[in-house]
Amino acid sequence: MSIELSKSRQLFDRAVTLIPGGVNSPVRAFKHVGGTPLFIESATGSRITDADGNMFVDFCQSWGPLILGHAHPQVVDAVVEAAKGGLSYGASHRREVELAELILSGFKGFERVRLMSSGTEAVMTALRIARGVTGRELVMKFEGGYHGHVDGMLVKAGSGLATFGTASSAGIPEDVARTTLVASLDDEEAVESLFKQYGERVAAVIIEPLPANNGLLIQRPDFIAFLRKITRKFGSLLIFDEVISGFRLGFGGYGQTIGIEPDLITLGKVIGGGMPIGAVIGRADTMEALSPLGAVYQAGTLSGNPVSLAAGIATLRLLKSEPVYQKVESLGRHFEENLKKSGVPYARTLRVGSIVWLYLDDGPFPRRHDTISERAVERFKGIYWELLEDGYYLPPSAYEVLFISFAHSLEEVEGLAESIVRNLRSARSDRTGKIE
Ligand SMILES: *Cc1c(COP(=O)(O)O)cnc(C)c1O
Repeated sequence: MSIELSKSRQLFDRAVTLIPGGVNSPVRAFKHVGGTPLFIESATGSRITDADGNMFVDFCQSWGPLILGHAHPQVVDAVVEAAKGGLSYGASHRREVELAELILSGFKGFERVRLMSSGTEAVMTALRIARGVTGRELVMKFEGGYHGHVDGMLVKAGSGLATFGTASSAGIPEDVARTTLVASLDDEEAVESLFKQYGERVAAVIIEPLPANNGLLIQRPDFIAFLRKITRKFGSLLIFDEVISGFRLGFGGYGQTIGIEPDLITLGKVIGGGMPIGAVIGRADTMEALSPLGAVYQAGTLSGNPVSLAAGIATLRLLKSEPVYQKVESLGRHFEENLKKSGVPYARTLRVGSIVWLYLDDGPFPRRHDTISERAVERFKGIYWELLEDGYYLPPSAYEVLFISFAHSLEEVEGLAESIVRNLRSARSDRTGKIE
């Protein structure tokens, strides 16, 4: 290992005595790739610098919010200005109206937005609205989708003939897990048979229309259209969880790209420009089920926080005024082409705009989590630390997507492609990514 990591390691040694596993969110723990986490000291544009002074081109970008890159000057200025005017009011303010207008301007037919502090909260709220307006208890999710750490969403398919979910985390009451039905992605029949059995009790179906938390499992638009149809037929709501995809691929949601309109959409990440945020949007009649107008309770001391909203407003304004989506698309295409022309058959990526999944296998691209190739995962692990040594910081898991930002350059995506290909070719890539 040629990079110095002693300061990160010292910090990690202290962290593990203070914080469970040394991290405040489990995927940061480097369990998938071996070794211990880098401690980041600062970040600007496409680059992050760690505690030892190593600089990396960052393709994790905080897992999705930073479509403009780190510390975009106009976003930082907006945050500083807001902070000087008070960190939180617990009362109404102008930025709530401004961000609401900006968000809704991206979604035709959506009339109301409620802001909160995380994507998890947004999902929790959307599910509660669905149950409140339908008076039903069950919700359906898909294996391989991630919807934050809401109790009822930390559920996987039961074994054998069991159709109700079983908890995928300790600490979830069985009664809660049993209110979630789990279906397979890309499988109309599975959904149909669940609806046949439980349709009258299903409050909502929730799906990432572009599942991006277990690799990138691009769905057939027909499948999503089928969900729209069957939820209408049974009087259930369709919820698109667009916490990652919202404003990431265009000014609005992925649903519009495929021409399918859900009843509720959850947002987060990009709309906060790197600050904590979440949102639920929907038509007025559905959203007005929320308190104080309706009977569905939802609240938050820091909801609509002025500093978060300042970052979100600045970000969305720049998405309108700058050619962000064109640039990240062309960077993504360039990256893909460079991998392709290497001639290494498994140097491949699955990509929608700036969401890029390295899928290091030459077989068919998966549409479900259980068809992800083990070899692809092993190859990723095998080159992870080599990529770091070459100066590229990626999310530390083969199941996570890379994010290209407006701050990246052609040279940087080309460099990453070159590094991937070279390390795949070298024999070293056969060992698992352990340092030393
Ligand atoms: C990130 C994410 C969430 C959770 O958002 P947090 O802000 O981390 O709570 C929910 N759904 C999807 C699709 C996400 O990608």
